[in-house]
Amino acid sequence: MHELAVTKSILKLALDYLEKNGGNEILSIHLVIGEMRNLEEDWIQRYFDYISAGTAARQARIKVKKIPVLFLCKSCGKTFSGNYREDKPLNCIYCDSHEYDLVSGRELLVETLEIK
Ligand SMILES: [Zn+2]
Repeated sequence: MHELAVTKSILKLALDYLEKNGGNEILSIHLVIGEMRNLEEDWIQRYFDYISAGTAARQARIKVKKIPVLFLCKSCGKTFSGNYREDKPLNCIYCDSHEYDLVSGRELLVETLEIK
């Protein structure tokens, strides 16, 4: 599953970080995830608890900061959010243009790690 692969890479990153920085244990992992990723905090925590058993990250709490999906209209220059899941094309809510760039919403990164 999607969450499992993501969670594995988060665990690896966290353990590498711990090794480099010489801590004993990972207390929490703060993630930044765009809404478009469709990743749920509960699921990530559940997978994490499962795969981190026996490692220095087994007690870590996963905290997720969600980043909304935002588009920048190329016609009027305004930023808008939209329902990207719908099949019908999305238009700018200000000028109805369909020319726009994705500004945010696809983020997936570890913001901070708390270790001791
Ligand atoms: Zn526009």
